[in-house]
Amino acid sequence: MSLSVEAINGVEIPQLGFGVYNVKQGKDGVFEKTISEAIKTGYRHFDTARIYGNEEALGREIQNSGIAREDFFLTSKVWTTDLGYAQTQRAFEKSCKKLNTNYLDMYLIHFAGPHYVEAWKAMEKLYTEGKVRVIGVANFEIEHLEHLMKHAKIAPMVNQIETHPEFQQHRLREYMLHHQILHEAWGPLGQGNKSLFENEVLKSIARHHQKTVGQVILRWHLNRDTIVIPKSSNPKRIKENIDILDFHLSDEEMDRIGEMDTGKRYSVNPKGYNVNPIVVSLMKLFLK
Ligand code: NAD
Repeated sequence: MSLSVEAINGVEIPQLGFGVYNVKQGKDGVFEKTISEAIKTGYRHFDTARIYGNEEALGREIQNSGIAREDFFLTSKVWTTDLGYAQTQRAFEKSCKKLNTNYLDMYLIHFAGPHYVEAWKAMEKLYTEGKVRVIGVANFEIEHLEHLMKHAKIAPMVNQIETHPEFQQHRLREYMLHHQILHEAWGPLGQGNKSLFENEVLKSIARHHQKTVGQVILRWHLNRDTIVIPKSSNPKRIKENIDILDFHLSDEEMDRIGEMDTGKRYSVNPKGYNVNPIVVSLMKLFLK
């Protein structure tokens, strides 16, 4: 897998990565097997976050692979309770320690929670010091990006947002394109939602190419220059999700998928509970 997109600072980001949110951790070793399978299959770009609670396990598997750190592209995210100038720098150091690395390829603000502008100043510092190669945000709406850029010296290079054929993010995407902010899709497979996987348009395109619906969805994202980080713990699907470069979607097929947008998200609204100052204060009590 060698497709990449270029961030505004020239850093090449592997376009197809592997998300590790909710990969089961425990004595049965599912997490370890999943990561080692993904590495064996060819994934080198991994997406984690402080709040996923698996940075340490991911760092261990990367080290166990015997492959050089520089051959990986590692992303983590600062959680809402760690936003702030000093807090974000501390959170970064903790994430690096857990991931067993002294730099990150990409570091993102997970949500536009309280003090995200101060957190961004810390991101800029980490970037200037060479500790992070690409800095960006996740779940930022246009209003957040506008506000952030008013106060920023360096504009965010990536925005990681929920995106799939039923929620294509047209308006935000256009804004990001205009400001040269790369689009990264979380939940690129709609988190496995039935309404996508049983969609007749996707099924007929998949049949035509002798591919699966999952592969068609991921190919659609790549054609739109979006970075994708599908997650799976199933070895067959891990392989399937990376095996998407040997077919092309025609303009007509892209248009048919384009028409599937309903404008409805499947998942959390970024303006929701996890940025509410009261909830954030409560979270601080429970998160170490
Ligand atoms: P996803 O769209 O990658 O869907 C994953 C689910 O889809 C799997 O659990 C499985 O049920 C199904 N699936 C995977 N491959 C399949 C295939 N080939 N065929 C059929 N079904 C398949 O959803 P996600 O895991 O939520 O998102 C991907 C990654 O994005 C996460 O692991 C995480 O790293 C990141 N993420 C970020 C945020 C954020 O707020 N920034 C939020 C959610 C996820």
